[in-house]
Amino acid sequence: MTRRVTVLGATGSIGDSTMDLIGRADEGVFQIVALTANTNAQKLADLAIQFNAEFVALADPDHADDLRARLSGTSVEIGIGPEALVEAASLPCDFTMAAIIGAAGLEPTLAAVDQGNHVGLANKECLVCAGDLFMNRVAKAGATLLPVDSEHNAIFQVLEKDAPKGVKRLILTASGGPFREASPGKLQTVTRKDALAHPTWDMGAKISIDSATLMNKGLELIEAAYLFDRSSEGIDVIVHPQSIIHSMVEYVDGSVLSQMGSPDMRTPIAYALGWPDRMAAPVARLDFAKITGLTFFEPDTERFPALRLAREALESGGQGPCVLNAANEIAVEAFLKETIKFMDIPKVVEAVINEFSAASGFSVSPTTLDDVLTLDKAARQAAIGRLKAL
Ligand code: NDP
Repeated sequence: MTRRVTVLGATGSIGDSTMDLIGRADEGVFQIVALTANTNAQKLADLAIQFNAEFVALADPDHADDLRARLSGTSVEIGIGPEALVEAASLPCDFTMAAIIGAAGLEPTLAAVDQGNHVGLANKECLVCAGDLFMNRVAKAGATLLPVDSEHNAIFQVLEKDAPKGVKRLILTASGGPFREASPGKLQTVTRKDALAHPTWDMGAKISIDSATLMNKGLELIEAAYLFDRSSEGIDVIVHPQSIIHSMVEYVDGSVLSQMGSPDMRTPIAYALGWPDRMAAPVARLDFAKITGLTFFEPDTERFPALRLAREALESGGQGPCVLNAANEIAVEAFLKETIKFMDIPKVVEAVINEFSAASGFSVSPTTLDDVLTLDKAARQAAIGRLKAL
């Protein structure tokens, strides 16, 4: 039976891998319902034509004319603006890939969840900034959430979901990023180019910077807590530079189950696209005789304070994760524009967290979408203020 698929964030890195797999599948396996992007009208139009999409949505109206011109004479319907992304996500389909970057993905992803079908979740930030609300919507709609982040996908594959009492802890692996061995002095001077050069994974710019600061692992820690209903103490992080073991579950009897594979996002994406069946992915196969070693290290939260900040935000509950995420998005954007230094990223995040925590003690949890969006906006403004004060 043909699977009707929508890809939110089709022009990004996860979007590329998703479209690559869909393009390789036999004719009739997938039909593209909707594709979305932010500014990249050219790539969105090319994909829409290549995959015969029914609808495309572009968030940024400044590029609308370009998109319309490129799709004139085709039958592809066009929507413009953030509300068009929600419209795209609401069109009936069997599977949605949620791969927008950042909290901008929250509303479209919730609209996809509300369909009650399968959602492949790459967009971790939407779960970080609205964890309880998001998981409640998943439960209410009866949606099936299929984690795409390689670590969470690994856990999903080896977690005995019907016997939660047997689980002792989840162990998230981290590559350690490009600065795993950098001295504190070196971290003060690293450039945008250095930070974008991830040793094992090829990813979009924002997540590459998050990987370099280890904020990505912090966001994943929060993501895992919500996805698998675990507290902070039940989730450990271990640095594993080879990125072959994608994460592990330890059981009370001492057994540790892991999922392994080459560091290629097409494996977890194929898992989500094909679920509950397996579909082929053209990834490099592990050759165990050639693997010279699998090594593991404790993460260094002194050199990489972002991981500590994320754990504290998770433990503080309530507003903490949303504030952390918003401040981080602003700080990473500034670093990518080369207006702040690498180590200013955790500095800005910590200052914003302290500001909000002092004002409210993080006591009031955001329970509605409006609460989340208001808090996200306030934290972004506070972060912009901190950037100016650096
Ligand atoms: P990219 O930056 O490569 O792509 C982001 C996508 O989102 C693009 O399609 C982009 O459109 C769109 N987008 C950006 N801003 C907005 C906005 N304001 N409104 C609507 N759409 C927007 O990101 P990645 O593919 O790397 O990451 C996507 C998500 O997947 C992130 O949450 C990331 O953490 C997660 N993830 C990514 C992995 C990876 O390997 N890349 C691994 C695991 C998780 P445009 O092209 O027009 O800018």
